[in-house]
Amino acid sequence: MIDMAVKHIPTGEVHKGYKGGITDCGFDTRAKPDHWEESVEKITCDKKGCKN
Ligand SMILES: [Zn+2]
Repeated sequence: MIDMAVKHIPTGEVHKGYKGGITDCGFDTRAKPDHWEESVEKITCDKKGCKN
C-alpha cells in the first residue's frame, strides 16, 4: 500500500496527505494551492504526523 503524498514545490519536501487537504503534519494545502502537487514520491518530511 502506498501512502498518499503531496509535494511542497518551493521546498521539494514531500508530505503525507493530498492536495486540497491538510498534511499529516498540519500544513493546509488550500492556503497556497499553487505550492502543492500530488506526488508518488517517498515522504521526506520528518515532522510529527508525516514521519511515522
Ligand atoms: Zn509533513
